[in-house]
Amino acid sequence: MSQLPFIDLGAQRRRLGDRVDEAILKVVNHGAYVMGPEVTELEEKLAEFSGSAHAISCSSGTDALAMILMAKGVGPGDAIICPSFTFAATGEVIAWLGATPIFADCLPDTFNLDPESLKKAILKARELTLKPVGVIAVDLFGQPADYDAIEPICSQEGLWLLCDTAQGFGGTYKGRRTGSIGESAATSFFPAKPLGCYGDGGAIFTDNDALAGIIRSIRNHGQGTDKYDNVRIGMNGRLDTIQAAVLLQKLEIFPDEIEARQLVAQRYNEGLGTQVITPVVADGCVSTWAQYTIRLSAERRAAFAEQLKTEGIPTAIYYPKPMHVQTAYRRFPVAQGGLPVCEKLADEVISLPMHPYLEEETQNRIIDAARAALASEAA
Ligand SMILES: *Cc1c(COP(=O)(O)O)cnc(C)c1O
Repeated sequence: MSQLPFIDLGAQRRRLGDRVDEAILKVVNHGAYVMGPEVTELEEKLAEFSGSAHAISCSSGTDALAMILMAKGVGPGDAIICPSFTFAATGEVIAWLGATPIFADCLPDTFNLDPESLKKAILKARELTLKPVGVIAVDLFGQPADYDAIEPICSQEGLWLLCDTAQGFGGTYKGRRTGSIGESAATSFFPAKPLGCYGDGGAIFTDNDALAGIIRSIRNHGQGTDKYDNVRIGMNGRLDTIQAAVLLQKLEIFPDEIEARQLVAQRYNEGLGTQVITPVVADGCVSTWAQYTIRLSAERRAAFAEQLKTEGIPTAIYYPKPMHVQTAYRRFPVAQGGLPVCEKLADEVISLPMHPYLEEETQNRIIDAARAALASEAA
């Protein structure tokens, strides 16, 4: 049995190869390797694509989150609420700036931030005499979080909303594109994300002109109008011109790839829905399917993964530990009532190969193997 890839970047490469090669070579020859014309062009196209006034490209998704928090001026004494069931970068940047992450629970069906737990996390912050200042919601596995429930809580409590759409860029929430939701949003162009480059990269989105100005300054060492008068503490958070050139090519086929991902997810749902808990997309949402994640009881999951592996089919566990139980993060507070859903999901989730170039025949092989594994365990 041939070994299948979990994410097949080679298939996209075969589709786009010449165009990307030419775009890279053009940068190599024109020589503006840092902040070259492709960077400006990409930012214009990303702003248009997302429907936000400003798109600011940067060095990674993690740096995108961090630069937004730096621009907001967060620090010790501030509490920022985020879900615990996420990639570590979401909470990492909060602690990195000296603020306190307060971890909240997620919903069992969409895996995203539970608005009720968000309220309990705000209570927790006040109980600890910390000042709740903002919320980082995550569009986990590509599905937008429940913004109709989250936004009113933020406005009532006077909190800003930052959307971590590293996995969800390109998705929609009730007609709104991710990137245009919240006061600001951050995405990642890590190669395995739905829109990835050939290295590290990311972007920040906002409609707020003042915030955008500060972030652009932070991205370049806190530069003011005079290049050698740094007006604030910044960093080097720029995206390489070569990566911008790659992304310009990939952005052109991105809508088509998002469509293809819907078809792949639908085939999985049809093939597996009667046997296992398949992912739920809320009404009015379009997921980018960064991951296709099913749930099995904790006892069955290891055997399932093992059997698929013997058939050459890779699986992955995103995430085996929620943040609040990890070594570096267990000292931080959690929402009142604890995070039972995050803990249960970490024991039960398993993701199947997912990318826009998964052909029907290959996918049937995965579905058949998964069904056989599920049936043999049940027996
Ligand atoms: C990947 C990811 C990040 C970080 O992006 P990098 O580009 O790898 O730094 C942040 N948040 C979430 C939810 C992610 O999946």
